[in-house]
Amino acid sequence: MPAPLKIAVPQSRYLRCVDTDITPAEKNVVDAAATWAADFVGPRSEGWERDRRCARDAFDSAAAHSFTGLYVSQDHGGTGLGAVAYARVFEEIAAADMGVGFMLTVHNNYAVSLANHLTGPTRNARLEAALTGSVLGGFGLTEPDVGSDAAKITTTATKMRSGWKLDGAKAWVSNGAELDVLAVYATVDAAAGHRGIGAFLVDVATPGVVVDDPYHLLGAHSLGTTSIRLEGCEVADDAMFIPPGRGFSAAMAGIDVARIIVGAMSCGMMRTALGTATQWVRGRQAFGARLADLQNTRFVLADVATDLEATRLLTYRAARLLDDGEPATIAAAHAKKFATRTAERRIADCMQVMGAEATRQSGALPRHLAASRLTNYLDGATEIQNVVIARALLDGE
Ligand SMILES: Cc1cc2nc3c(=O)[nH]c(=O)nc-3n(C[C@H](O)[C@H](O)[C@H](O)COP(=O)(O)OP(=O)(O)OC[C@H]3O[C@@H](n4cnc5c(N)ncnc54)[C@H](O)[C@@H]3O)c2cc1C
Repeated sequence: MPAPLKIAVPQSRYLRCVDTDITPAEKNVVDAAATWAADFVGPRSEGWERDRRCARDAFDSAAAHSFTGLYVSQDHGGTGLGAVAYARVFEEIAAADMGVGFMLTVHNNYAVSLANHLTGPTRNARLEAALTGSVLGGFGLTEPDVGSDAAKITTTATKMRSGWKLDGAKAWVSNGAELDVLAVYATVDAAAGHRGIGAFLVDVATPGVVVDDPYHLLGAHSLGTTSIRLEGCEVADDAMFIPPGRGFSAAMAGIDVARIIVGAMSCGMMRTALGTATQWVRGRQAFGARLADLQNTRFVLADVATDLEATRLLTYRAARLLDDGEPATIAAAHAKKFATRTAERRIADCMQVMGAEATRQSGALPRHLAASRLTNYLDGATEIQNVVIARALLDGE
């Protein structure tokens, strides 16, 4: 029996990302993330998936490495990475485990939204808890009956004499299985449509919060995705951290960078698939020659390498636009659509040229194949990227 496949460490310069576009300090963070992903995440990934277990231990370790406030400005106590470096970090982490990458993305976005919107007496304590990773944050917009058309959410926030009462259900809550605080998007004034949506910080320990069992999905169980119900859940006045009128636009404000991160995570998964396949086909023989000498193998892997390169160009160009303060919505939509479609197909291609060995759960590729399917829905499904692109193409001046 051949030795089990290890996650491939990219040796070839064709697999490495060339970090010309980030500062030396940012490069140090990217390198630290790469080391952490290889040393901590990679060896545990199979276990999280086999046991269908949310990777809270990965979050706690990431917090100890200060990966919990990466995109929060230094003025607000964060690491203050630019979008290019932020995306590079997530290419590295997802190269080992996309679920862990998305877990940390969601938490980092939670920290950014606190830094940008939270005021009042709880600001300092809540922001510090997010930045240090002493709490795990999440984002609750999607509902059982409302996904892409997020402006139609039905969770309600009712004003009481003192505080608010929340009722409704949130679906697909990443980190839900181990969550401490959920940013709940709820409608305060249904008649006002999306302008009636505000956002509320809800500690999961609050009476009236019911966390359902984690979903059984085709993969990425390290992400601990669940539904969370709010049943007459009473919170204080200052739990409303984004008022109606700004809630929906705030939810959408972080969407460009979120889509770029999904693009970068797709690069990481593709990179691992290509590195693993390259290593395997060099070592295995068929019909008296290496698999690596078959023209089919060579052309398939060359095409994967081209698509990885193209995905990186789209993804990091969109990130560069954000860093330059340029509009990045269309570029982010192109990147996210291309990256997620491409990763799913190209990871499967890598598995095909390797033969059956590629399907062993002890290797990373089955996990990446499943996770790449899930990325097609994250932060707006593929068709929603097309809605954004087509609108710019066809409905502009
Ligand atoms: C692993 C995972 C983690 C997630 N984590 C979170 C989270 O932490 N917080 C959160 O709030 N949500 C989260 N989501 C939910 C995610 O944002 C939704 O899945 C996504 O918005 C799509 O919604 P839906 O799945 O309900 O699809 P639907 O909205 O039901 O759409 C079904 C299909 O119809 C297509 N469609 C919809 N509208 C149009 C249109 N106008 N034109 C053409 N096609 C259209 C869609 O693209 C899709 O293919 C997560 C999802 C996954 C898979």
